[in-house]
Amino acid sequence: MSSKQKTRSVTLGLGGNIGDVAVTMTIALDFLHSVEGIEICNVSPLYKTPPWGITSQNRFINACVEIATLLTPFELLLQCQSIETRLKRKRTMRWGPRTIDIDILTYQGFVSRDATLSVPHPRMLERAFVLVPLADIVPDLIIVGKQVSHWCNAVDQTGIERLNDETEWWPAAI
Ligand code: ADP
Ligand code: MG
Repeated sequence: MSSKQKTRSVTLGLGGNIGDVAVTMTIALDFLHSVEGIEICNVSPLYKTPPWGITSQNRFINACVEIATLLTPFELLLQCQSIETRLKRKRTMRWGPRTIDIDILTYQGFVSRDATLSVPHPRMLERAFVLVPLADIVPDLIIVGKQVSHWCNAVDQTGIERLNDETEWWPAAI
């Protein structure tokens, strides 16, 4: 971890459609929380969402989290990928089935169009499965000049279903 970094607010999108995704996502948050320089601040409810891209696969479960981090954007990407690997994600086909996907959606003060790390995430503003949970936790965050709540209201939310209305899926101390 870089010692000179300031704490930054970052949003992450999580999703998966193989196995018990809610359990996998809880473990992913445990892993994230245990990384030095990452603190989980805010966690959305879980949503069941229609598959994207390859529509013949199972429905996904998605959520978003807000973290505070001392890691640089690329350090954070490596941590997210390491957690995906530990949770047995196999990169077979793009947009195909996966146990867990962890994407960096926004990183305070950082914009990049690098293929390795593109932030804000290039496809997030068209995806209700990202915007609906994101609007739960950071509705006022500005992305490309407009609030998350604005972008969320602009997308088709057909088939997005909230799970665990009353239950906290991330019970750890935050
Ligand atoms: P996707 O999330 O689009 O379904 P993958 O998770 O397999 O696909 O990621 C493919 C590549 O996307 C990764 O190797 C990573 O370097 C790159 N990438 C670019 N921008 C981001 C981002 N904001 N968050 C996570 N990965 C990103
Ligand atoms: Mg990804």
